[in-house]
Amino acid sequence: MPPTATLEDIKAYQHKVEKDKITPHNLPPCPRCRVDSSFFKTHAYRERRFLIIIEMLVQAAYCSLVRFKCPGCGKTFTNYPDFAIPHKHYTQPSIMGFSASYLNCEHITYRQAVMVGGSVPGYPQNDATLAPSTIHRWITPLGRFTQTCRTALMLLLQQNPLSSICRSLARITIPQRKYKTKRRKKQLICCQQLMIVEAFFQATFKTSIFTKLAIRHAFG
Ligand SMILES: [Zn+2]
Repeated sequence: MPPTATLEDIKAYQHKVEKDKITPHNLPPCPRCRVDSSFFKTHAYRERRFLIIIEMLVQAAYCSLVRFKCPGCGKTFTNYPDFAIPHKHYTQPSIMGFSASYLNCEHITYRQAVMVGGSVPGYPQNDATLAPSTIHRWITPLGRFTQTCRTALMLLLQQNPLSSICRSLARITIPQRKYKTKRRKKQLICCQQLMIVEAFFQATFKTSIFTKLAIRHAFG
């Protein structure tokens, strides 16, 4: 089974949105005026298209995301479900899962990393399949969440000073065949760091760093 959010995950979130169960309480305070997130008001709903993989086919699924507004300064924020990565249509498990299979294995190429059990997920509209370059493109922005990673690491160490996360981060190595420039090497390292931090964060706080820290860093 390919890494993906499921239709059930998306339906469950939509159900929560409809029942008014999405609250801003676990979000950080407004980065602009420091108003506590529990005072945020629901501002708008925005329909969002996600791409999930069902029986090796890439399919669209729709879900509403909630936008909150800070009553102090009027800034608005989108609340992201754990299966979403801001500005990406594919879901977090797909993006992180395929990227991890490329990064975690020394000899694997992008072409091999898109394979699931000997075949590649395809698009139902035509004969196209998930392109190896897609994984290359996913890793680039994942390597840019350095500030989010730093904040998440701080929160993790506050919560558990004896965490083994620093040891895991120190062990990251990128085989030389995976990059031609120093810039790419840095992107690959940062992406690996993000994956490790996200795994520890999920285990510790039961939520994604993308959900929890979205507001603070605004993903700029
Ligand atoms: Zn504010």
